[in-house]
Order: sequence, then structure tokens, then C-alpha cells
Amino acid sequence: MTEHLDFDTGKVWFVGAGPGDKTLITLKGYRLLQHAQIVIYAGSLINKELLTYCQTHTECYDSAGMTLQEITDLMIESVNAGKLVVRLQTGDLSLYGSIREQGEVLSSYGIGFVSVPGVSSFLGAAAQLGVEYTVPEVSQSLIITRIEGRTPMPPKESIASFAAHQTSMAIFLSVQNISGVVKQLTSGGYPEETPVAVVYKATWDDCQIVRGTLQDIAAQVKEAGIGKTALILVGPFLGDEYHYSKLYDAGFSHEYRQA
Ligand code: SAH
Repeated sequence: MTEHLDFDTGKVWFVGAGPGDKTLITLKGYRLLQHAQIVIYAGSLINKELLTYCQTHTECYDSAGMTLQEITDLMIESVNAGKLVVRLQTGDLSLYGSIREQGEVLSSYGIGFVSVPGVSSFLGAAAQLGVEYTVPEVSQSLIITRIEGRTPMPPKESIASFAAHQTSMAIFLSVQNISGVVKQLTSGGYPEETPVAVVYKATWDDCQIVRGTLQDIAAQVKEAGIGKTALILVGPFLGDEYHYSKLYDAGFSHEYRQA
């Protein structure tokens, strides 16, 4: 099949790389990597095997050691030289992706950007565990958050305040402070026996899963030596209680099926 290349080289293409497994990038992201002339990738988190989709002459730059200005200078220079520029970032761009600050600099030079979504790590982690965050009559909401680090949290978004809902939570960027997270979760309202799973490098070959409850998870995570690239998943969705979905219930009629 011959493919028509119609990626606009006047813009920067931001591509979600997916959670790790190199086949979990979208087809569009894959094609962009195949045709890119310049790739600026977030080397601390993305799977470098993704770069094998590029051509041998594609110039690949690891942004891990670059400043915002160095990144945007490179993008601007390359777009102005008529090159197809891909900015490759982990998971999906809409979560902790810092795309806005990059986009604003580009736009001040009259350059736009296009976002190509990716599979976020919270989805990769659920797939790795074979679970759903929304269990009928147990939890129907998912809170995505993080603990404060060098980036402060907005005052109304403490983990303790979210814990009051006792629903499903996926906590990013926080495993290095697992004890602090547990403290906030329990003081906020989750019972100590609430199940927790910490997923390190979901969908990678060296993925590691630690399961426990709020009572013992911190000690287990420390013992496993997990200090980064992990998600803390909390809530009764990880427990044994569940109810069948009404959607497939033989006694339940809906638009597509009569009881
Ligand atoms: N945009 C990304 C998140 C970037 S913030 C996304 O959608 O997933 C970086 C944080 O994401 C890490 O500190 C970790 O909490 C989480 N993370 C990224 N990849 C991960 C993976 N494969 N497994 C578990 N957590 C991951």
C-alpha cells in the first residue's frame, strides 16, 4: 500500500508515545515517526525502541537534558527549514505533558502545533492488571491526581480532600513519597483495608506490580525499591466486591435488546 504523506511541515507534531510497549502508539503516531526528519523525545520516560520506527537519517534529540528554550529553538529552526518535526512524549499529552508552555513559545513565532493522542499510563496500568476503574455500584468515577512535589498543588486539590469520595484514584508522579500519599489518603477517608496496587513501568517488559492495602503498601513499595515511573492505584475497584453490569443482564431491556 502506498501512503500519501500529507503531514503539514509548517507545524510541530506532538505525539503521545503510549505507556511503554512500543506497539501501543497510535497508527498516526507511528506514521509520523516513519516520516519525521526531526524527533525530539522525552528520553527519561519513553521507550527508545520507538525510535526504530524512524528512518536512519532522522535526527533524534533527547529532551531530558534540554531547557524549554533549547527545545523550542530547535523546533522553530527545524520548522523554518521545512522539516517534519515530531515532539514525542510519554503516555498521552493531556496529562502532565507541559505542552502548553511549548505551544505558547511556538505560537509567538507564528508556528502552530497538532496533538496526536496516546495511551496514557493509567490506561496501560489498568490493562496490565486486567481491571476496570468503574465497577457497577462500587465506583463510577476516577480521580487522576498527584501529590505536591516541586510543583505545588492548587489549594482545593489535596489528596485528602479527594479521598473523601472513596472512589477509584490513579495517582501520578508520587511514588517517591508513598508514605505521604498513604497518610493523606487515610486521613481523608479511605479505610486502612482499602486495596492499593502500585504499577511500575506498566506495559514494559520489566513491569513490576506491588499489591497491598493502605496499611502495608508503603513498606512493600520501599522494599521493592520502586521510586519512580509508577502509578499508585487506590480504591475498592481493586477489591472483591462487584456487581454485574446492567448492560448485559438478561433481565434488563435497553435500546438494542429486549429482556
Ligand atoms: N503523560 C503521561 C504522564 C507523564 S507524568 C501519561 O499520560 O501517562 C510521568 C508520570 O507518569 C510518572 O511519574 C508515572 O507516575 C507515570 N507513568 C508514566 N509511564 C508509566 C508507566 N509505564 N507505568 C507506570 N507509571 C507511568
